[in-house]
Amino acid sequence: MKPALKKFIFTHKKISIASAVFLLLLIFHFCYVHLIPYNALNEFLGRKNSVTIYDRNMRLIQVTSVDDGVRRQYTPLKDIPSEIKAAFIKAEDNRFYDHGGVDYRALLRALKQNTSEMRTVSGASTITMQLARMVSPSARRSLMAKIKDVYNSWRIECRLSKEQILEAYLNSVPFGNNVEGVTSAARYYFNRELTELSQEEIYSLAVIPRNPSRYNPLNSPEHCARAASLLCDKSAEEIEGQLKKITAFEWPFYMPHYVVYLKKHYGEDFGRKITELHLGADLNAHEYIQFQIYTYMEKLHHSRIENAAALAIDNETGAVIVWTGGKNWFDDEHSGQIDGVLVPNQMGSSMKPFLYALALDRGMKTTEVIPDIPMDFGSDEVYMPLNFNNRFNGPVIMRNALASSLNVPAVYTLSKVGVQNYYQCLLKLGFDSLKEGGIRADLGLALGGGEVTLKELVTAFSVFPRDGKYIPLTYEEGEECNPDEVRQIYRPDSARIICSILSDKKARIMGFGFSQTFQTSYPSIFKTGTANQYQNIVALGATDRYTVGVWMGNHSGNTVMGKTGSSVPATIARELLDFLTDKKAGDFKLPENYKRTKVCAVSGMAANSSCPNVTEEFVMKEELESFCKEKCSWHSVKNGKLETVYPAEYQKWVSGDFKNTRIDYSSSPLKIVSPKNNAHFYADDTRNQYQKITVEVTGGASSQEQLEVVIDGGKAQFVERPFIFNIPVRRGKHKLNVTLGEESDVIEFDVE
Ligand SMILES: [Zn+2]
Repeated sequence: MKPALKKFIFTHKKISIASAVFLLLLIFHFCYVHLIPYNALNEFLGRKNSVTIYDRNMRLIQVTSVDDGVRRQYTPLKDIPSEIKAAFIKAEDNRFYDHGGVDYRALLRALKQNTSEMRTVSGASTITMQLARMVSPSARRSLMAKIKDVYNSWRIECRLSKEQILEAYLNSVPFGNNVEGVTSAARYYFNRELTELSQEEIYSLAVIPRNPSRYNPLNSPEHCARAASLLCDKSAEEIEGQLKKITAFEWPFYMPHYVVYLKKHYGEDFGRKITELHLGADLNAHEYIQFQIYTYMEKLHHSRIENAAALAIDNETGAVIVWTGGKNWFDDEHSGQIDGVLVPNQMGSSMKPFLYALALDRGMKTTEVIPDIPMDFGSDEVYMPLNFNNRFNGPVIMRNALASSLNVPAVYTLSKVGVQNYYQCLLKLGFDSLKEGGIRADLGLALGGGEVTLKELVTAFSVFPRDGKYIPLTYEEGEECNPDEVRQIYRPDSARIICSILSDKKARIMGFGFSQTFQTSYPSIFKTGTANQYQNIVALGATDRYTVGVWMGNHSGNTVMGKTGSSVPATIARELLDFLTDKKAGDFKLPENYKRTKVCAVSGMAANSSCPNVTEEFVMKEELESFCKEKCSWHSVKNGKLETVYPAEYQKWVSGDFKNTRIDYSSSPLKIVSPKNNAHFYADDTRNQYQKITVEVTGGASSQEQLEVVIDGGKAQFVERPFIFNIPVRRGKHKLNVTLGEESDVIEFDVE
């Protein structure tokens, strides 16, 4: 081989090895930059941002913080004013649109400068490199870190457009003081929207990221102004003069419980898809009611009522207007951060309207007489409700039973409607807590024995002014509720009758006397409830437009002292309605298929001239004629004196404290009304010798006055009318026979 050829081959071999290595490097570079997924970038771009929350009047409720208290609001590039984009490009990276991630000219210059001054390499970072450092931070600023930034900038530049890079940068560049991105910085340092910034402010903003503590316009306006003046044609004095006018801004922190709820409600979208919320809430109303709650509770502090909550919604849209979860978020001693709107509690009588509306739907007449007398219910377990004032009112109609919140009539009505039917109705009304809690669906449901939340209660109560229709809550202004969740719970007429009863100030007298609490200058309905020895006190109110609810009690489980302050929630509920209604509200609609007529409030029959207590009641139009024909048969005037004839089941009640009354025993067959057949009793050993079972027998057509009583086939004993007597408690199964003339009745019961 000729040496020349050899040399040629050798040289080419060298060249080909070199080019192979070069090629490999190139491939590696290409792969690293272009092909290997840049997960950190995806994660960075998908980070959660702050959510800016406004009320219906564009008042700022909160800018939520992301991790570690950082505020970082996101503004799409198209909404960032071009002056701001230009200012940041000028301040940080003049040739941003001309380089591919690295500005070599600037890098060389910086390298020369820095090495000659014996410092570590700094400066010359393009916007892309700064973004790269945010995406993949390095612990130290070293040459290796700089090389890493360069590489990551290339990776970013081949994945994102210049516009996307600028958008990501402007929305995440740190400004110190837990603020990131231009939007939050404009808010924090200047208390302005981006579009409101002056030219001086824009250039001041643009220099802060260089050194947030040195260029903080609040603390060092002179430094900030000097740096900004180099970027624009304003003098440092001019800029400083403007900066000195700024008043410090604090991030608002209103409706904290509600914001926590919304975070949970929107889930993963909160801070990602959703970065701005315009709520239907009214911050003015919230502040007003927060103040009321605070003031009243300070007065009540001796009664151990530690927590309170209020909720107000718009009936038409279901929009939340007020959501006040507690007295004081920062009160750690009394679990201030627990949201009282969402805590399940026994809400007592406030549940009763749901029961009576169902009874109306299922055919119960408004004029039906409901007994308010001592009664026990159920056969397996004896259930004997008392009214809250331990008084019984005898025969009542629904209007008085509901408005005065009587307990026995509610349990009686539930036993007629059926526990399961009512339970299903409550689930349809959105009382999910009853499902989750797995409560015992029993007659206690009539008195609000299940635990439900204020949110559920207010939403359900709003079906009454809404003609029986349920709609779910909505949160954003103008938001339309999910049509799949809208459902007609009650007939419109049933809901309208309930509204008529709950707005009837006269009908409440039996239970509450005349109360100023419910006096409003506009049509309104109210219902209150207490449970667990006043541990929970709740008041619901509504106009045709708004529904409100106020709860008071404590999360600690401490008993509340006595009755103190039990009318306070009602007072606050009324104040809230006053505030929202501005003293104006429409009338509630009247039931279409009913007509009002004069009714005896005792017998529920068409009133005659001697009835002592006459009320106006709705009677179905088609039944009106026959109803009016049959006048009240209980009341009559004899020898100038009013005489009342009650049906047999009222004998025990009448024997209490009434004169000029007579019991019509012959109207019903002989019956042991108490105890019920198959009743269980529990013997109490500690007071055995005093314990007795009271037996009550009604009816019996015979003129004979002596009732024959036989227990367990033993010796007969005789009792006179009224047939109410006691028998001793003995353990075991027992059989009780009673006989009067031709009639007899028998029951079995046992004592454990
Ligand atoms: Zn009458």
